[in-house]
Amino acid sequence: MKKTFFTPGPTQIYPTIAASIQAGLHEYIASISHRSKEFENLFSQTVNNLRQLFAIPKEYSVFFVSSGTEAMERIIENCVETHSFHFINGSFSKRFYEIAGELKKKPSEVSAEYGEGFDILHASIPPGVEMICLTHNETSTGVMLPLPEIYALKKQYPRSLIALDIVSSAPYTNLDFRFLDCVFFSVQKGFGLPAGLGILIISPQAMEKSVRLTRKGIMTGSYHSFNTLSEYALKHQTPETPPVFHIYLLNAVITHMLDRGIDNIRRDMTEKKTILYQFLDSHPILQAFVTNKKFRSSTVIVMQTGEHTTKLRQFLFTHHLIVGEGYGKYKNQQLRVANFPATSLDEMKQLVTIIKAYYQK
Ligand SMILES: *Cc1c(COP(=O)(O)O)cnc(C)c1O
Repeated sequence: MKKTFFTPGPTQIYPTIAASIQAGLHEYIASISHRSKEFENLFSQTVNNLRQLFAIPKEYSVFFVSSGTEAMERIIENCVETHSFHFINGSFSKRFYEIAGELKKKPSEVSAEYGEGFDILHASIPPGVEMICLTHNETSTGVMLPLPEIYALKKQYPRSLIALDIVSSAPYTNLDFRFLDCVFFSVQKGFGLPAGLGILIISPQAMEKSVRLTRKGIMTGSYHSFNTLSEYALKHQTPETPPVFHIYLLNAVITHMLDRGIDNIRRDMTEKKTILYQFLDSHPILQAFVTNKKFRSSTVIVMQTGEHTTKLRQFLFTHHLIVGEGYGKYKNQQLRVANFPATSLDEMKQLVTIIKAYYQK
């Protein structure tokens, strides 16, 4: 029986994956050496396609890591000597902050209630912070921060590096990298791939910072320090044996996205989220958790389902529609619906129809 996953990661598999797995096996991708010309070609094709999809400037480096969480750790290790600053409004932004503390830095933060955003431009950021860290889309709460305000931070604090987690907003987000220094995502959300691969994009300034810290004798990591990653990336390789098959699948998904046209994908996603939000806003009982439309996520829609949470989730399940549970303390009060490229407009319409049916029972 066909199931449709609206879970915010791992999630529905991108529709072309099955064929790409077959093709990859046929090409013996899982067996090739990561030091071979064949892998180097795959590496450079994938990076070039990523650059095209996200309009990444050529001076920026693109690295393969193992997860979004790893990217957070690498960023703090390589760009922060003592002081990072964090915007916290959910579990993932909190994790970024905690990592800085665990690495013995001295992070500071501004927090917002779950479900709310920030007055980014008036946040009291201590002078001299080395890096400002933000989560573009808080997957735990369904809050998305407005990019123009994030960009304005770079103008307000030109000496600070800006790190942006786009794990659950890529590839919906259309970024202007001029205002960003470290950007990362993992592939089990918007790219509809199995988990286990992360992408880290860094500016020349972030790279220089890492070099300065290393020169000062500060520990910037070993096999995945920016320096080691960059040394190997120049040869179109990775320091370790990477998940070659995974990189192959990512390249296949991106190639498909480029063919489909990223603008078309984004337009379809906008249409899908509009259908769901309009339904929630006009429903007598159900509500969107995020009430301020300025901060409503386009890619993870959190529904305030209250006492119906468990029964509604079960009802959807019997119709082979899998939605995400609420996060943490909201587990029994909310359901989360991912709006990623892998699901179709018809599937989103079907989800709405079945939710409607549940409340009409
Ligand atoms: C899922 C997620 C992460 C963690 O990514 P992993 O690949 O699981 O380490 C980080 N940030 C956000 C916003 C996420 O949604």
